[in-house]
Amino acid sequence: MLSTMTATSVDASSHYKLSALGERVLGGGQITRAEAQWLFNLETSADILDLLSWANRIREHFKGNKIHLCSIVNAKAGACSENCSFCAQSSHYQTGSPKYGFVDPEPVSEAADEANLNNVTAVGLVAAWKGLNEGPMLDEVCDRIRELKAGGKTRPDASLGIIKKQEVANRLKEAGLECYGHNLESSRRFFPQTCTTHTFDDRLETIGYLKKAGIKICSGGIIGMGETREDRCDLAFELKAIGANVVPVNILNPIPGTPFEKLAPLPVMEILKTIACFRFILPRQEIMIAGGRTVNLRDAQSMIFMAGASALMVGNYLTTLNQPVEKDLQMLKDLGLDPNWDSHDFSDQEEAGCGCGEKSCEADAVNSM
Ligand code: SF4
Repeated sequence: MLSTMTATSVDASSHYKLSALGERVLGGGQITRAEAQWLFNLETSADILDLLSWANRIREHFKGNKIHLCSIVNAKAGACSENCSFCAQSSHYQTGSPKYGFVDPEPVSEAADEANLNNVTAVGLVAAWKGLNEGPMLDEVCDRIRELKAGGKTRPDASLGIIKKQEVANRLKEAGLECYGHNLESSRRFFPQTCTTHTFDDRLETIGYLKKAGIKICSGGIIGMGETREDRCDLAFELKAIGANVVPVNILNPIPGTPFEKLAPLPVMEILKTIACFRFILPRQEIMIAGGRTVNLRDAQSMIFMAGASALMVGNYLTTLNQPVEKDLQMLKDLGLDPNWDSHDFSDQEEAGCGCGEKSCEADAVNSM
């Protein structure tokens, strides 16, 4: 009897279309902007779970069972001159977030010890300021990077804001910096609603200097800030165009006192769908689930890997808490995933560029800076 089996509202044509797109990506092909937007607009749970299943296959195909773990140290906290609407550390808002100057060597070396103990690949020094110029502060930052590198326990990463000179990026590289975190935050269209004290182009320019210095790029964004699905899709294609190596997906955790404090959280399935869409668009990149994971996904956290995530921010975030790293390591073990990423050098990723062949491609603009 077929009657009950066929009496369903599930649209089988979506299943076939998803399969065709998934097979194409698995075979080394790419999906178009229009196809990606169709994925972002999937609505039924049957379609979204189908999408997740393909994203999982793509992750496994390109990444195996390796999961890249990162942690961060808040290397200079609070009193930031910028007005990013999601951020507890902006001096424009009253959030009660801690404030202190640039970090001494001890907390950084303690973070490296802890990372080493927990199979965490990288420790990133994150500073709450607009950016980094030449001068004594750059010297101090380079000292911390050199110490981390010399310790040999973890990959030294940093997220130090906007860079306006090639020399600054070159100095960071010489000190031993391997990867720099600099999110695009959202689409070019939506960016002015997140920040007006610097621009999307300031961020692209910084990434251009870093790439020219030979530093790997960790760049992603935040979802749940009131942006549309089109904005999320545009962000993913921008990240493809700039050749980001690691793509952090943060999920807004609204901070009391910031302009975004009253935004409603995204539904869990919308978050998982977004991660899966990113995996389709960025099949070889490390897609890292970062801030807002615990509070937004709760019991569904382990589903991020089925949605295509291949990297995880562990330990506490800059101003909010995460679940204990032991719990994350247990989650990976339970899923048969391996956090040991030591010898990985990003060589499994595509070269920078989106592969579209268009002369006006933003990748060319960024790469030629
Ligand atoms: S996100 Fe960074 S640049 Fe923006 S306010 Fe926060 S610390 Fe400053």
